Amino acid sequence: MRFRLLAFSSLLVAAFSVAAGAQTADRQLNLYSARHYQTDEALYSNFEKQTGIKVNRIEAREDELLERIRNEGMASPADIFITVDASRLAKADDLGLFAPVKSTLLEGRVPATLRSDNWLAFSTRARVIVYNKFALKAAEVANYEDLALPALKGKVCMRSGSHPYNVSLMASLIQHLGASNAEAWARGVATNFARSPKGGDTDQIMAVAAGECGVTIANTYYLARLMRSDKPADRKAMEQVGMVWPNQQRHGAHINISGGGMLKTAPHKEAAAKFLEYLTSEQAQIYFADGNNEWPVVASVKVNNPALLSMGKFKADSLAIGSLAKRTPEAQKIFDRVGWR
Ligand code: FE
Repeated sequence: MRFRLLAFSSLLVAAFSVAAGAQTADRQLNLYSARHYQTDEALYSNFEKQTGIKVNRIEAREDELLERIRNEGMASPADIFITVDASRLAKADDLGLFAPVKSTLLEGRVPATLRSDNWLAFSTRARVIVYNKFALKAAEVANYEDLALPALKGKVCMRSGSHPYNVSLMASLIQHLGASNAEAWARGVATNFARSPKGGDTDQIMAVAAGECGVTIANTYYLARLMRSDKPADRKAMEQVGMVWPNQQRHGAHINISGGGMLKTAPHKEAAAKFLEYLTSEQAQIYFADGNNEWPVVASVKVNNPALLSMGKFKADSLAIGSLAKRTPEAQKIFDRVGWR
């Protein structure tokens, strides 16, 4: 009898624990990230401190992460997928991986042009023109279109046409100029190449500084990183180059994003929503600006980053970032056709 009572009470305890477990808030969050910046460490540990939710992070290239999420299927532990470039987020969305997060806080803080139904941006970067001050004048390279002019033959360095940064830029030009003009532009730029595309944005900037080419296009945070570098070689390189805000009398500088969304199969939906909201908090937004030289998406957040401040104000392309994704397959085909590999 005594044994039975004991057994019964431990059953009760077990039943209670299960009920309590169901009500307990998520204690962890599984983050699949294709964003690799050292400064992001502080971003995540700060979230852990604030919420008590542990962030388990899996970092890999975005194709690998997407493949993994698809293979894991319904059993995927992934709660959040974050990456850079709207075209990549749109790809994940097209695969049906995201679920919407209903949050009036997010809707209030992230401008409508920087989110879609299922994902949102938490920082922005611009794709700008970088030129060698001793080889060219700023006025000669004021617009993206100028890089296709015959005057710049043999002077243009670019990273690969298969990289999303260029594909998204191309998508925006298709939208603004029309497909045939955009293709003529890409062909003109490829004709002007000083060398075959190789390396990342920083490599292009360094090649411009070294005089191997006269002009390139690069994301602002690479430039800002070099501007803030203590390395003598970087400082010297920055003395050689100038930056132009492209297309200021036209449609404005091309903008892209870093962003993410909650996965449909997320086991910790509550933690996922909290995390996305956290990324738009004042503190997180300042991390993006100070740590990785990106602009906050939340308008009220003040930037203190000297490199970003030195770039000044500019006219940004006002295209909704989500709309670019529709043009990316066409953009890629154009690059392939004109030999911008
Ligand atoms: Fe990058």
